[in-house]
Amino acid sequence: MNLQELNQSEFPVPAELENNIAITSLSQLYNWGRRNSMWPMLFGLACCAIEMIATAASRFDFSRFGFEVMRATPRQADLMIVSGTVTKKMVVPIVRLYNQMPEPKYVLAMGACASGGGPFKEGYNVVSGMDKFLPVDVYVPGCPPTPQALLYGMIALQRKIDGQSIANGDDVPWYGVSSAEPTPVPVLGPDIIDPRQMDMIRRQAEAAASDMAGIGARELPAMTQVVTATAAVEATVDAAAEPVSTDALSFVLPAGGTPWAEAEDIREKRRQRALARKAVRASRRAATEEG
Ligand code: SF4
Repeated sequence: MNLQELNQSEFPVPAELENNIAITSLSQLYNWGRRNSMWPMLFGLACCAIEMIATAASRFDFSRFGFEVMRATPRQADLMIVSGTVTKKMVVPIVRLYNQMPEPKYVLAMGACASGGGPFKEGYNVVSGMDKFLPVDVYVPGCPPTPQALLYGMIALQRKIDGQSIANGDDVPWYGVSSAEPTPVPVLGPDIIDPRQMDMIRRQAEAAASDMAGIGARELPAMTQVVTATAAVEATVDAAAEPVSTDALSFVLPAGGTPWAEAEDIREKRRQRALARKAVRASRRAATEEG
C-alpha cells in the first residue's frame, strides 16, 4: 500500500513519515478504496468480448489495477463493460441488469459497436450506441479495441473516480437526499422504444394522424386512436390518392418546433451539464496538482 498516493499536498507530511502517515480527505480515502476495487460484471456481447477476456487473462491481467474478479451477478458488480454489438433484443436485459447493480456503478462502452453502433450502425436490429439507454462514463474506441486500449479506458475511469467528491451531490448523485430512479427498461416491439421518450412518440403519432391521417392513424397508440378516428376516416381517401411529400414529414408540435428538435434540445442540455461537471473536475484536479 502506497500511502503517498493518499497524501494531500496542503498538509505536508515529513519525508521520514511519508510511508507511515497520510493526511487526506474523506472523499479521497473513499475514492481511493473504490477505484482500486472495481468489479466488472461478467458478460460479453460479441467479438469485443474476446479482447475483454484477453485483458482479464494472465498476459494483461487487469487485476493488477484492482479490477480483480469479474462477478457473474449484477448485485456484486460495480462496472458494466458493454463489450460488443448491442442488438435491440439484448438492450432490454442489459438495462435490466444495470438496474440490478448497486450504486455507485459505472458503464464503459467498449468498441465502436457499443459506442455508436459501429459497422452495424443503422442496421435494422442494432442499437446505435449504448449511451442512448445508459449513462456511459468511458468510451473505448476501436473495432475491436486492443487489451491495452481497454486497460487505458479502465484507468481513465479510475481517474474519473479520483475527481469525484462525496460532498458534491452532482458528482455522485446517489448521495443525494432522494433515492435514485431506476433507468426505464426499453420495450422491444416492432422497434425498440425508450419509455422516457413516450411523450414525444405519442405527440409525433398524433401529429402524424392529424397531418396524414390515412398513413399515421394505423400506428397510433390505442388511447389516441379513438380521438382521431373520425378525422382519419375522412382523410383516408385523399391521403391514399396522393403521394406523401417530404414536407409532410416535418411535424410541428402545438408549442412550435418539431419532436426531433425537442429531443436535440434535451440532449444538448445534458451535454452542457456533463461539460460543466467535467470542467469542475478538471479545475479541481489542476488545483490539486498545482498545490
Ligand atoms: S466494435 Fe468491431 S470487434 Fe467490437 S463487437 Fe463491434 S464489430 Fe465486433
